[in-house]
Parts: sequence; C-alpha cells; structure tokens
Amino acid sequence: MTRFVNPLGRQRPNGFSARVSDIKTWTKEALSLDEEAVVSVNEVACSQPDCPPKQVVVLILCASAPARKFAVHKPLMETGQEDVVDAISALENCSASRFEN
Ligand SMILES: [Zn+2]
Repeated sequence: MTRFVNPLGRQRPNGFSARVSDIKTWTKEALSLDEEAVVSVNEVACSQPDCPPKQVVVLILCASAPARKFAVHKPLMETGQEDVVDAISALENCSASRFEN
C-alpha cells in the first residue's frame, strides 16, 4: 500500500472538518445561539496528567453576550454531542456577567 504524504500536510483524519462543523452545530443548539454567533473549534494539546494528549477547546463569540469557552478533554474525532452538552454545563464566561434566577 502506498501512502501519499502531503509535505504541506495538515494531519487531519477523514471526517475532521465534518466533526468540527458538527461540534459548532451542537454548541449552537445547546446554547440557543443565533446565526451571527461565532463558534471557534480547535483541537489543542492538553497537559493534564489524567487526560488524553488532545482536547477540544470551543470559543463562543457573539455580539449580545460575553465571550465564553469550554473544553472537552477528548480528541476531536472522539467528541460527540453528549460531550459537548456536558461541557457546556460547566461553561465559563470569559468576563463576568451573571444572571441568577
Ligand atoms: Zn484534558
């Protein structure tokens, strides 16, 4: 079997960009974000000892609310909708803005 290795290579497995857009969709649904909200999904290294080496960090930017972010401590390709929903329950606001019922 021959393998073509792109020297400019992004080492992205098949389905990576589809999963990124799924994670964006799940995030928008879970937070009821409007269309103009920007959701940025990145797979980054995680240095916590009990974690897999990769984690997914999601940043949410929209005009009407403070920036928010959450992380799923799994590789992107293993991150599913439940992981996103769980992580959103521990969402952090990047700047203080609290509304308590
Ligand atoms: Zn981690």
